[in-house]
Amino acid sequence: MPAHEHHLDAVILGGGIAGLWTLDTLRRRGVHAVLLERAALGQGQTLWSQGIIHGGLKYTLSGLLNPAAQAVRDMPDRWRACLAGKAEPDLSRAKLRAPHCHLWRTESLSSKVAMIGAKVGLRVTPTTLHSGERPEALRHVPGTVARLEEQVIDVASVLSALAARHAGRVWLAPRASVDRDDTRVRVTVDAAAPDAPVLLPRTLVLTAGAGNAMLRDRLGLQPNQTQVRPLHQVMMRGELPELNGHCVDGSVTRVTITTAKDSAGRTVWQVGGQLAEEGVHRTPEDLIAHAKRELAACLPGVDLSRAEWATYRADRAEMKAPGALRPDDATLLVEGPVISAWPTKLALAPRLADLVTERAMSAIGSAAVDQRLPEWEAAGVGAEPWEDQHAW
Ligand SMILES: Cc1cc2nc3c(=O)[nH]c(=O)nc-3n(C[C@H](O)[C@H](O)[C@H](O)COP(=O)(O)OP(=O)(O)OC[C@H]3O[C@@H](n4cnc5c(N)ncnc54)[C@H](O)[C@@H]3O)c2cc1C
Repeated sequence: MPAHEHHLDAVILGGGIAGLWTLDTLRRRGVHAVLLERAALGQGQTLWSQGIIHGGLKYTLSGLLNPAAQAVRDMPDRWRACLAGKAEPDLSRAKLRAPHCHLWRTESLSSKVAMIGAKVGLRVTPTTLHSGERPEALRHVPGTVARLEEQVIDVASVLSALAARHAGRVWLAPRASVDRDDTRVRVTVDAAAPDAPVLLPRTLVLTAGAGNAMLRDRLGLQPNQTQVRPLHQVMMRGELPELNGHCVDGSVTRVTITTAKDSAGRTVWQVGGQLAEEGVHRTPEDLIAHAKRELAACLPGVDLSRAEWATYRADRAEMKAPGALRPDDATLLVEGPVISAWPTKLALAPRLADLVTERAMSAIGSAAVDQRLPEWEAAGVGAEPWEDQHAW
């Protein structure tokens, strides 16, 4: 065997939440694996997400426990245990942006909000708050305000905590290439360097988000199995109150707001929900004008006149689903030694990692793997969208 060839159990391409959580799960089961990242960890959807560990409530606003809510309902407990260091992976080094979210309606119709979820058997259900318990930004909301035990994570710190558990196995590989023949898959870590390591994994896991489409093409896998659903999100920074949660209107999440701090210590809001779904057809200026009207309606009495506003576009990358709708669950496509994987939601990454690990374990036989690994440059965590100064 040439010196630069290495037999491994698994190689993972793509270091967002899906790839890193999968690497962790595989290695805890004794699988010899490395992860290759093209640019920076989380640089696709993960760092642009709002970091909410959903428990399914937003899928049950119509009053039914549908498959999407069923898939995600155990995730808040699972993440909470990891973030508290009481379950593996131990993420106690990661930071929380908020321990819970709020849920409110703009009209004072009823306290129906508190019954949603409980009725259909979710683990995380809203608790109605008395007026004195409301966060400052929701003091003047006429309708019910409830607390929802969905944590909001600091996504970058979760990626760092996961990567730190696998030092030497999370590589920066901007020029990696993949190919396969009938018997094996090959990953050349640097296609431009003749002596770069060539990895020969028993299982190749694709967790490259939108990049899965190109990798699948290169590997000659079944075409047209991926979809992207675009969003146009709003960002604000300045003197803003702390607020994390969803303003609902009927069965629609009108806006979802999450709060973070930027690297200069400023408070930043990310605003998504229906606003961002519909915003894909708007210019940034038009979307900002619309967001000002929406937030004035959703947050009466909150002065946003001194905030700076910006927008960013982001695509949700998923396995193709009928009608181009959101898949209900984390999804896998297994084609020989290649597993293409999409979590669908950040919150579902642990579930995806379990599914991938189950499949990968069944491919791992008794043939020897090469435990010796070459040294390679480590991939670092990317930046959140509000750190892009050109966006403002
Ligand atoms: C605006 C927005 C808000 C969201 N909010 C939430 C939320 O609050 N809660 C929630 O649960 N979900 C949310 N989601 C969904 C969630 O972000 C995604 O489901 C999840 O982050 C996908 O993770 P991933 O690891 O599959 O992909 P990504 O995060 O896209 O990671 C893919 C990685 O692969 C790398 N890569 C690409 N091509 C290659 C290649 N050829 N070789 C090697 N590496 C490669 C990329 O650089 C990247 O690091 C949101 C999504 C968006 C867009």
